[in-house]
Amino acid sequence: MKRRDLMRGFIALGGCAVCAGVAKASEGVHWEYNGEHGPDHWGKMDKAYEVCSMGGQQSPINITSAIKAEVAPMSISWKKSAAKIVNNGHTIQINMPEGSSITRDGKVYDLLQFHFHAPSEHLVDGKAYPMEVHFVHKNKKDGDLAVLGVFIAPDKKNDTMAMLAKNFPKAAGAEATLEAFTPRDLLPAGLEYWTYEGSLTTPPCSEVVTWMVARKPIKVAKASIDAFTAIYANNARPVTPLNRRLVLMSK
Ligand SMILES: [Zn+2]
Repeated sequence: MKRRDLMRGFIALGGCAVCAGVAKASEGVHWEYNGEHGPDHWGKMDKAYEVCSMGGQQSPINITSAIKAEVAPMSISWKKSAAKIVNNGHTIQINMPEGSSITRDGKVYDLLQFHFHAPSEHLVDGKAYPMEVHFVHKNKKDGDLAVLGVFIAPDKKNDTMAMLAKNFPKAAGAEATLEAFTPRDLLPAGLEYWTYEGSLTTPPCSEVVTWMVARKPIKVAKASIDAFTAIYANNARPVTPLNRRLVLMSK
């Protein structure tokens, strides 16, 4: 075996060993962002993941045009709270305690968790931002999800992002406890957004998500972005076809 192939073998083994531990902790068939278990193959890996390839309302998408409409404003009621930060083998995720929610069209969605992708999963006119954060909300009654995506661009320091970056658990399966922080610090000043009906961007890719993507990015120190990409350099699903869906934009 050539040295290069041998190295590749080691890397593959290492990758699987790490993920096997995580797979036990969560559920479902092992998936990744590259290679044999990458996004092109998710739909074939497990019956439960079929919609990843068969679905017509998948996420993310490339946002190229949008219809100006009277979209419902979102009222955000997130509380300052302590939380657990977890490296789940696919991303860094902050699991929020009960008490934070958003209301849209009279419907309340509880904030369950937020997590990061690099580069951004949604594109704007074909362009990606260095990162995107997803705030995942769920309605208690019907289980509908409302995910708010916010792009992240490098600029001046954002103290909350810097605090999170300092606490990013480096190893898959590792976690830490965060002292109370204000998740609202991770929102842009204006909350104009695009909205469309889509899916989870990871298996099982369920088409149960109302997406809201903030039009303005937040700015954080480049060091905070580097801290994430040192752990997850690429955990973004490629964009999926818009098909017959419309993207609406708040006026
Ligand atoms: Zn996500």
